[in-house]
Amino acid sequence: MSVQTIENLKETRTMSKKSEFQNSYQELNLDSENRSRLLTNASKMGIQFLDSLKDRRAFPSADDLEKLKGFIEPIPEEPSDPGLTLWMLNEIGSKGTVANAGGRYFGFVIGGSNPVSLAANWLSGAWDQNSGLEVTSPIGATLEKVCSGWLSEILPVSKDAVAGFVTGVTVANFCGLAAARHSLLKKRGWDVQAKGLFGAPPIKVVIGEEAHGSLLKALSLVGFGRERVIKVPVDQQGKMIVEKFPDDIDDMTIVCLQAGHVNTGAFDPASEIIPFAKSKGAWVHVDGAFGLWAGASPSKSYLTEGYELADSWATDAHKWLNVPYDSGIVLCSKPDALRTAMSMEGDYLDQSGTRIPYQYTPELSRRARAVEIWAALHSLGKKGTADLIDRTCNYAQKFADALSKEGYEILNDVIINQVLVSFGSAEVNEKIISEIQQEGTCWVGGSKLKGKSVMRISVSSWATTDEDVEKSLGAIIKIAKRISK
Ligand SMILES: *Cc1c(COP(=O)(O)O)cnc(C)c1O
Repeated sequence: MSVQTIENLKETRTMSKKSEFQNSYQELNLDSENRSRLLTNASKMGIQFLDSLKDRRAFPSADDLEKLKGFIEPIPEEPSDPGLTLWMLNEIGSKGTVANAGGRYFGFVIGGSNPVSLAANWLSGAWDQNSGLEVTSPIGATLEKVCSGWLSEILPVSKDAVAGFVTGVTVANFCGLAAARHSLLKKRGWDVQAKGLFGAPPIKVVIGEEAHGSLLKALSLVGFGRERVIKVPVDQQGKMIVEKFPDDIDDMTIVCLQAGHVNTGAFDPASEIIPFAKSKGAWVHVDGAFGLWAGASPSKSYLTEGYELADSWATDAHKWLNVPYDSGIVLCSKPDALRTAMSMEGDYLDQSGTRIPYQYTPELSRRARAVEIWAALHSLGKKGTADLIDRTCNYAQKFADALSKEGYEILNDVIINQVLVSFGSAEVNEKIISEIQQEGTCWVGGSKLKGKSVMRISVSSWATTDEDVEKSLGAIIKIAKRISK
């Protein structure tokens, strides 16, 4: 659709619906009847959008992307009709979305909001809570406390761990590292919150050779520097080789492990490394963005054995738990260390039962993320959470089996929800990936394993069904056969 057509449409929409929000759209101060109409329309549009995903492309078409130009306009001088504002979002915006809320999106490691969590998000949007303090949101504070307890029970973390609710794992990693920094330097009598890092006793940081880029970013944010690290060599799957782990670590060392390599899904050998690191007095932080959730499934929890011995953990709720963005969680078994690292005024020591939400996160004002996490966990329960993990892992296995049967190479050990496949040369892989993306049945991306080009399939959504897997496999295999011939 051309930009001209959009202009025409907007005009028609404005003319025909001028009276919809009469008396109100001048001030954006909708009375209750108009507000109800606006919100009902929004929910109808949202539901229609979700219904459309069954038959929709996994990524917008070139035409739909072109339509986004309809948003490129000067800021209106006068208030706009809220109906028009919403109409533009739906008419132009909805089609410009990536369909990861549907069942055939397998790019990166991206889940899709499950319905109860989305419903909680809508309600909580209406609540508009500032969850920084109990006095600004009693419900937010209550649900954070409940989720903190539930998460420490179902995830492979210390039973004493407390949780902070942040935007994602990048920030959760930052929080874990800040708690570590505080804790180690305090042992040397250095108050890093007050004095900063200039002149502080040096801290060693040990990471895997294939740590996620966001961990490196977090290291740069806390002032350790992304290059000032000791990198432990990894095996074919990207997990640390125990024999290559440095011996000379001490009580001024932070060891960062990975539970779930972003490509292969591999887990660093925690049972071997963590007890050793702890015996030296080191702090162990875990990046378990999605992999940590394997511990919530009895059939997969063998993979996360030993991780509960770490000191801090970062994980996402917006990936495998399938809650709306943005939702990350930092967990820490030393509550005082996390609270002090996140403090505004100084040490936050034992609070004898009261939990003040902002003392666990970098932010003061923020939305009540725990509402959606609570809704997901409450509705799924332990069983449903485990089922979600198992089901998506089984679909990953199904992809791997079918592609391998067609003669294509599976490059990773498919232990959880990640599959890496190669159809031949880098050129062939890239061509196939690009054709799959253009064809639209499903969306998969490319990545690299040990420098080798691969296609990555990540099954992270509750919404994926047998039919989605069949349909997607059909499209992938058809394209692969045509191009690799
Ligand atoms: C996704 C991911 C991250 C980054 O998480 P965000 O929520 O995007 O900040 C870090 N580590 C791993 C292993 C990941 O898969």
